[in-house]
Amino acid sequence: MPPQVTQLAIIGGGPGGYAAAFLAADLGMQVTLIDQEPNPGGVCLYRGCIPSKALLHVAKVLEDARQATNWGVTFAEPTIDVGKLRTWKEAVVRKLTGGLGDLCKRRGVTFKQGRATFVDATTLSVQTTQGEAPRLTCTHAIVATGSHPTTLPHLTLDSPRLLDSTSALAIPDIPRTLLVIGGGYIGLEMGSVYAALGTEVSVVEMTSGLLPGVDRDLVNLLSARLKQSMAAIMLNTTVVAMHEEPNGIRVTFEGSEVQKPQQLFDKVLIAVGRRPNAQGLGLENTSVELTPGGFIMVDAQRRTTAPTIYAIGDVAGEPMLAHKASHEGRVAVRAIAGHKVAFEPHAIPAVVFTDPEIAWCGLTETQAKQEGRTIEVARFPWGASGRATTLDRNDGVTKLILDPSTSRILGVGIAGSGAGELIAEGVLAVEMAALASDLALSIHPHPTLSETLMEAAEVFFGQSTHVYRPQRRRSDAPRVGLASLDGLEESG
Ligand SMILES: Cc1cc2nc3c(=O)[nH]c(=O)nc-3n(C[C@H](O)[C@H](O)[C@H](O)COP(=O)(O)OP(=O)(O)OC[C@H]3O[C@@H](n4cnc5c(N)ncnc54)[C@H](O)[C@@H]3O)c2cc1C
Repeated sequence: MPPQVTQLAIIGGGPGGYAAAFLAADLGMQVTLIDQEPNPGGVCLYRGCIPSKALLHVAKVLEDARQATNWGVTFAEPTIDVGKLRTWKEAVVRKLTGGLGDLCKRRGVTFKQGRATFVDATTLSVQTTQGEAPRLTCTHAIVATGSHPTTLPHLTLDSPRLLDSTSALAIPDIPRTLLVIGGGYIGLEMGSVYAALGTEVSVVEMTSGLLPGVDRDLVNLLSARLKQSMAAIMLNTTVVAMHEEPNGIRVTFEGSEVQKPQQLFDKVLIAVGRRPNAQGLGLENTSVELTPGGFIMVDAQRRTTAPTIYAIGDVAGEPMLAHKASHEGRVAVRAIAGHKVAFEPHAIPAVVFTDPEIAWCGLTETQAKQEGRTIEVARFPWGASGRATTLDRNDGVTKLILDPSTSRILGVGIAGSGAGELIAEGVLAVEMAALASDLALSIHPHPTLSETLMEAAEVFFGQSTHVYRPQRRRSDAPRVGLASLDGLEESG
């Protein structure tokens, strides 16, 4: 079969791959996008961000309905039709992935369903369900093959009771009890879904806190609520063995805080991280090199050590997030098109879609401490927010991490209902090198949770409208911050 020719071949149709394909087509390139699924979407749309958020929305509705009793509205205990729930979630996925397939056609992107491997740096073999398709010769290639769930070899069981994020999202049923191994964001999001559906969920985490690496003041607000919705949160605890029994999986725990060393669970979900899909791609037939962590090594343009091959998204390094993949994809395409670009974000937002949500961007307090950087933190507690009070959700905080000498906003952290939407303003502030006065003097709509960002900036100056701390008035305030604040107020 004579090879087919394409200018740009993209392997993997996730948020990295399809965003790259669409921009490349918009820039006039001839593009072939290859993925194993019938439509683009990748992990994000088929078995990640989108189905999990659809289910978390249902969980939120259930929780809100339960909490409504506090406001004088009592609903009957909900009945859950798991089949219908699954159908709805699948319809969401189908709608979005079908839409992406349609956008491919409209943009003239050739979509090939199959598994691609490199024969050499500019030739791809594509295996389809009908056998090998004609080989594809390309001028440039982008690897966007994503990642897969990490497994624990000593805890592998061939049992439908053992779940990973993909099988947990399939909601085969609502188990009576579920153990989530791993207190990271995927484990907590999935655990929250099942807890809302009525499962007794226990979480086990080997380190001393949930969401390792995230600022503790944010996590503490989440932990407090999860302690009410989950059956148990076991910290400093490791799972050392699992055995299937007729009624469930018997799990053996070890750790200083372990109270019951063995417990039986209907199901166990392993959510201990993800590994890049850099194996089995024929990269050994190219000069592409991997990092010690198994990611594809890339430069600021996302070019690999093979000059015509680029890599983006989960396969090209942390953080493994959809929006980071898409942004990298656009950088890589612009680099291929000859534009002067680099992937140099100051703020890649991260959101944990639990209840409350946790979101952060830019510099965190934890990171500042590790790097020995001098920072100032301005916190606005949601107990002082009118909007949070109307929602009966005062369990939140918005904080700014600032450079004390210039008042520049270096990072933003938020815990609270809707934090994932609010963090976008923080990203803009960090990327635009905004000062505390920029946020403090921008009029925010009332009553909204977005006001907490404005008031956190006011706290920096010791004068937030809804937080009264007379002794906190900054006598040592950076002149640039106060001067610009006072000056702008006068001129305004
Ligand atoms: C449960 C869960 C929830 C998540 N929630 C969020 C969230 O809320 N927000 C967020 O930002 N991120 C979230 N993520 C992470 C997010 O899904 C990933 O960061 C994102 O999908 C990475 O995009 P990507 O383009 O690198 O690759 P992927 O989305 O992983 O797509 C890669 C695609 O490449 C295909 N592929 C692999 N090898 C080949 C090959 N050889 N040939 C052809 N095709 C191939 C795969 O089948 C896949 O379709 C979540 C992940 C999970 C598992």
